[in-house]
Amino acid sequence: MQDQSQNPAISQNPSTTAQIAQSTSAKRATIVILATGGTIAGASDSALKTTGYKAGAIGVEALIGAVPEIKKLANITGEQIANIDSADMSDEIWLKLAKRVNALLIDSSVDGVVITHGTDTMEESAFFLHLVAKSDKPIVFVGAMRPATALSADGPKNLYNAIALAASPESKGKGVMVMMNDRIQSARYVSKLHTLNTQAFGSPASGDMGYVLDSKVVFYTMPTKPHTLESEFDVSALDSLPKVDILYSYANDGLAVAAQALFHHGTKALVIAGMGAGSIHKSHKTMLKKLMAQGLIVVQSSRINNGFISANEEDSGLGFIGSGDLNPQKARVLLLLALTQTNSPAQIAAIFNKY
Ligand code: ASP
Repeated sequence: MQDQSQNPAISQNPSTTAQIAQSTSAKRATIVILATGGTIAGASDSALKTTGYKAGAIGVEALIGAVPEIKKLANITGEQIANIDSADMSDEIWLKLAKRVNALLIDSSVDGVVITHGTDTMEESAFFLHLVAKSDKPIVFVGAMRPATALSADGPKNLYNAIALAASPESKGKGVMVMMNDRIQSARYVSKLHTLNTQAFGSPASGDMGYVLDSKVVFYTMPTKPHTLESEFDVSALDSLPKVDILYSYANDGLAVAAQALFHHGTKALVIAGMGAGSIHKSHKTMLKKLMAQGLIVVQSSRINNGFISANEEDSGLGFIGSGDLNPQKARVLLLLALTQTNSPAQIAAIFNKY
């Protein structure tokens, strides 16, 4: 065999040398699938039903068994964390999931995890993990818009793509990703944008991170805000999370009454899905100010799923914190994690600027 180190075309090209080094050291990845339920594990009595089925009906072994091709991509094992409709997601399951992900990824024999999840709250769970997972190994969320029993179910292909993504060495250090409909999205920016279509997920502010095509992984972008190993949030010693709620603004809304009721019921902080760039009806500001004097934190986001919210002079004077480009459900995740560290509005505002 020819000595490649003597070949000037190779020795003078650092990227080719790097590729050779990578391919000789590449080993078969070991990926753990953590199943939580959702439509990807959903079943109904008719192949024609894409509504009215039961989410979280099928176990992880059946999910793996339905896509034997994934065994060609990696060594696969599965664990059942929960089996729910993701509308029923709880702090308890989030903490269980985060602790299990961290325990698995610290193990040198595991190269990545894939989390099967309902699509309704997937963006929230993914962003939570993006901020509390302590590893640079790939963490990929995947779901489906059609139940496993449906004609043309999208779950099997999505799962295949998710394993290809988690097994790719290129996926390291990119934070938590969501794999749906061949597209890779960052947990930081992704949102569910359609109620039923298989093209349901997008990232309005950043666009897709990349795509998977026939097990080939291609990236266009990287998330720029801190995540995983650079994130300061640590839930390893927690068994509950601070109570944070969202209130939705609209013409003639009853926000002040609802805010007061929630605060007296234990809510520590509110995200307001304001109108436009975060506007809140002026009649509610007196009540919010009164509750803030008693410790309530208020973050202004928007009911519009695209754009930036920074509290204007009047609102920041009142103590409202702008959510930046985080939609209300994402802002809620960051806010509850911020509250695990501090109750200071100034420090929480700094956290919103940073993450
Ligand atoms: N309701 C389902 C869930 O979030 C929807 C889905 O998975 O697509 O669990």
